[in-house]
Amino acid sequence: MKVVIVGGVAGGASAAARLRRLDEQAQIVIFERTGFVSYANCGLPYYIGGVIEEESALTLQSPKGFWDRFRIAVKTSHEVFAIHPDSHTVEVRNMLTGEEFVETYDKLILSPGAKPIRPALPGIDSDKIFSLRTVEDTLRIHSYVRERRPSSAVVIGGGFIGVETAENLCELGLQVTLLQRPVQLMNNLDYDMATLLHTEVREHGIDLRLKADVTGFEEVDGRVVTHVAGDDPIGADMVLLAIGVAPESHLAQEGAIVVNDRMETSAADVYAVGDAVQVTHQVTGEDAVISLAGPANKQGRVVADVIAGMDSCYLGSLGSSVIKVFDLTAASTGLSEKAAHAGSDCDSVVLSPGSHAGYYPGATPMTMKVVFEKQGLRLLGAQIVGIDGVDKRIDVLATAIQAGMRGDRLKDLDLAYAPPYSSAKDPVNMAGF
Ligand code: FAD
Repeated sequence: MKVVIVGGVAGGASAAARLRRLDEQAQIVIFERTGFVSYANCGLPYYIGGVIEEESALTLQSPKGFWDRFRIAVKTSHEVFAIHPDSHTVEVRNMLTGEEFVETYDKLILSPGAKPIRPALPGIDSDKIFSLRTVEDTLRIHSYVRERRPSSAVVIGGGFIGVETAENLCELGLQVTLLQRPVQLMNNLDYDMATLLHTEVREHGIDLRLKADVTGFEEVDGRVVTHVAGDDPIGADMVLLAIGVAPESHLAQEGAIVVNDRMETSAADVYAVGDAVQVTHQVTGEDAVISLAGPANKQGRVVADVIAGMDSCYLGSLGSSVIKVFDLTAASTGLSEKAAHAGSDCDSVVLSPGSHAGYYPGATPMTMKVVFEKQGLRLLGAQIVGIDGVDKRIDVLATAIQAGMRGDRLKDLDLAYAPPYSSAKDPVNMAGF
């Protein structure tokens, strides 16, 4: 059996590695458009900021490593530009030589990810306006920051990539202006929770401007001027555009690729995983596009199981996520209250427990919000912002939601306790009503 994989990072690389464990004989070929395979995209903002010091830490895997360890052939700088399901072939372009060729497959896995949205605004093609998706993007920003020594940056977009990169540029000493079109950062959170982040970024010196609608750019005296509707133009030495991503799905269809719970597309022997696909939201049961690394990795393993003949399926996603924002951690799972209100009659509890027993030094406050259905108390979602212990609480709540627990059962959960870590009544128990 010959398995061809398009895209060699989160979904593609995990599918390949698991398939090899399940099938020693399969011929596995990965085509990856960039020069790197299985790179750590989630670490890219931290390399720009110098928190991750070595470039090699982002690119631990190499085509040679894949071949030596797994006998998986990785062709980097190779773009698949057409799929022909009828003949079970793909067309491939070697990006370095321009050579084009046809590759056959028995099974095809698409894991092409999502591409940064770049609206057709005036002046957007300036080489001082960056996006962040690949290692190449990161190296471009890294060398610009190290060599050109910019003193200011405008970051457009207050989601995960924008906020993380704004923090990292700020920690490098740049004066950062963060522009966000909605009224709040991090749209996965409710406004009341996001305001904690607004205070945090402002206290660290970031000029956060909400409801900022960028209308275009201009290069003036070697700087980029960002024009904002109804506000003064902002001059800066560089701009990072991080206003969201769209599925890189054009090989298969426009919009997210539709798959079933076995990650099968409508074309025989063609599967798709990761940011490019539409999944089922575990709370609403509706279609959702959720661009996160955990789901992509899980779907990669599911598709390998399915191809190897196992009875595996992907159960959908809650969109659980966590982000560091300077000294705070913000995490969410399931639906925010604003999202839940759209579909059901819901309510929420908000509490401010300590991260651990108050009598043990170092306890810090956290704000926790749990959203539930009024009828039946079904848990719908949770958000936590705090300094310590946020990630483990959100994971417990994600597990409770996935298990279909009622909110009034949270108090019964038997959670680990010692004073440095928690309270005899953990914050999650306290959220039980
Ligand atoms: P990717 O991992 O993006 O891989 C797709 C690959 O396919 C790309 O390398 C692309 O070059 C290649 N490709 C596309 N089209 C073709 C083609 N036609 N031919 C050949 N190759 C092709 N998620 C989290 O959960 N937590 C985080 O902290 C987090 N931080 C992030 C930080 C950054 C800066 C970025 C960019 C993303 C982050 N994510 C994070 C999102 C996470 O990385 C993605 O959800 C995940 O990588 C998606 O996996 P994927 O396999 O679908 O796509």
